[in-house]
Amino acid sequence: MYDWLIVGAGFAGSVLAERLATQHDARVLVIDRRPHIAGNAYDCPNEAGVLIHQYGPHIFHTNSESVFDYLSAFTEWRPYEHRVLGVVDGREVPIPINRTTLNELYGLSLATEEEAAAFLATRAEPVARIRTSEDVVVSVVGRELYEKFFRGYTRKQWGVDPSELDKSVTARVPTRTNTDDRYFTDKFQAMPLHGYTKMFERMLDHPNIVVRTGVDFVDIRDQVDFRQLIFTGPIDEYYDYRFGRLPYRSLRFEHVTLDKEWHQGVATVNYPQTEVYTRITEYKHLTGQSHPKTSLTYEYPSAEGDPYYPIPRDENQEMFRKYQMLAKDDPDVHFVGRLATYRYYNMDQVVGQALATFKRIDEMTRMRPAMLRSFGTTAHAVEDRLTAQ
Ligand SMILES: Cc1cc2nc3c(=O)[nH]c(=O)nc-3n(C[C@H](O)[C@H](O)[C@H](O)COP(=O)(O)OP(=O)(O)OC[C@H]3O[C@@H](n4cnc5c(N)ncnc54)[C@H](O)[C@@H]3O)c2cc1C
Repeated sequence: MYDWLIVGAGFAGSVLAERLATQHDARVLVIDRRPHIAGNAYDCPNEAGVLIHQYGPHIFHTNSESVFDYLSAFTEWRPYEHRVLGVVDGREVPIPINRTTLNELYGLSLATEEEAAAFLATRAEPVARIRTSEDVVVSVVGRELYEKFFRGYTRKQWGVDPSELDKSVTARVPTRTNTDDRYFTDKFQAMPLHGYTKMFERMLDHPNIVVRTGVDFVDIRDQVDFRQLIFTGPIDEYYDYRFGRLPYRSLRFEHVTLDKEWHQGVATVNYPQTEVYTRITEYKHLTGQSHPKTSLTYEYPSAEGDPYYPIPRDENQEMFRKYQMLAKDDPDVHFVGRLATYRYYNMDQVVGQALATFKRIDEMTRMRPAMLRSFGTTAHAVEDRLTAQ
């Protein structure tokens, strides 16, 4: 008998397995239907020996000291600040748009933040009510830069025009008037020194944790004895798609190895205009590996395939809310992670969510014996009372 069955060995499942095993001395079975641990963050040496990310580039960045400290118990870090170039009208320019981008694209010599802001102000088009992704961008940088940088990229990525997408999709993309060319500005920016998979191996290395990969929950749910369940897979799948399938956008990854040391100047080059792929990533920039060959991944957005990006539309959130209501009636099942909560989360956010879930479980476990005594009732009724609070 296991105390916990954890479905999914990505960040959500592995953090919870580690916490429950080390802090509660619980017996934990972790399963994943993929043939490996680490979920989407899985990395491995390819046939040439170059360390690649199987599911596209994963760059770690966070403002949360507690998340960074927690993960630091399982890895050393390689300082790394991500930089992205975009090929626009045949030139490579910094992304997000900054003062250098404007100067290079328009042959200008804007020298101060004020000058860059004044230039953007002459281009920006006022939008009375910002509803869509197009509105967000046009209102800040104007239609021409929107067309060059955002429209084509978003159409490729999402399969629809930005004018039909919720404002949240491009709201996160900053525009800078200084020359900071870092993609992220978080306090902590680093890559696990020996890769993500090695970090997960250390997280899951505990005598109380059993890991089985290549195992799907549906095939074992009635064969394994467990007290409580943590489910980090798709919530609609757990409930047999009762209200329909939650829509996702997917990606096809084309991994390529070249017989030369370097291919491009930075880790990621975006192609916001005519190419079918959205970006090319060269891993050695991320990992710091020295190797005479180099490996790249081309990303091709697609409607079919693994679920990667929840599609932000009101009707999809409505469907998710129906599944959430079902989950409320299942107090012994904890839904954690990006697929179970139908949200695009970065890795640090999922670690934070998993640590917060552990805290709730921990509090409940501490309260349960006392409440059982005081109410003289069943564990389920106690959970109901606690969940309702
Ligand atoms: C292309 C891409 C690039 C990204 N880049 C970044 C980045 O640069 N920085 C960043 O912070 N974040 C990035 N992310 C987000 C990051 O991948 C997620 O935050 C992280 O993977 C979430 O972890 P998770 O445990 O919730 O989900 P996952 O990593 O997806 O793990 C869930 C696991 O559950 C398993 N599973 C599902 N259903 C079942 C079942 N029925 N039975 C058994 N197993 C099951 C799956 O196989 C999967 O391995 C990126 C995401 C994508 C798609």
